[in-house]
Amino acid sequence: MSTQMSKDVGCPNCAAAVRTEMWPGVCAQEHPELRERLLGETFFDWTCPGCGYTARFEYPCLYHDRERKFMVYLAPGGSGDEFRPVDVGSRFPQLAGVKKRVVCSPAALKEKILIFEAGLDDFAVELVKFALADMLTQKDGKKPVQGYFCEADEGSNRIAFSFFTEGEAEPLMRKTSMDAYRKSLEIARKLSREDEDCFEPVDALTARDMMQEYLADGE
Ligand SMILES: [Zn+2]
Repeated sequence: MSTQMSKDVGCPNCAAAVRTEMWPGVCAQEHPELRERLLGETFFDWTCPGCGYTARFEYPCLYHDRERKFMVYLAPGGSGDEFRPVDVGSRFPQLAGVKKRVVCSPAALKEKILIFEAGLDDFAVELVKFALADMLTQKDGKKPVQGYFCEADEGSNRIAFSFFTEGEAEPLMRKTSMDAYRKSLEIARKLSREDEDCFEPVDALTARDMMQEYLADGE
């Protein structure tokens, strides 16, 4: 279920109190236009009606896709308590069978939506991304800071990512074959880290841990 509220936000430019609409809960089926805004990266755009000042106004938000059975909790800039896995299994048994993730940026929320809507496994996608980031470092001497899944296409056998690297404003695109994804999916399924009781981060750190575990198993 989507939830809406509004709050007075002080304009950083003219100090006017601006009544601002917020959506702490977004249901993809109920409000497809909010999903569009998240994917278009305009969801948190904020404009002062008085002076025209624009800013990004980010706040915690729970995204729920009932049909595809996933939830993503966005804790902007989260690093402390908010970003720890949250155990909800015992409290909300109706959410059994729903994938639950926590992310710390709107870009990471968008990425999760794209991954799950493409019907992909995000553990496997993170493993592919991890390998591509490693190649950027080893072969190209670049330092990837952030990497994001962009699209996957079985027809052309390609899965694409964008990487932001240290010292460069424009992201680099990197592609690999869907075979690399399928191999990663095998590894992800073998290690099986899905915990349906928790909202948990599945990111580059998860991929690193999984690779370490996988390589240790093979020794
Ligand atoms: Zn203003």
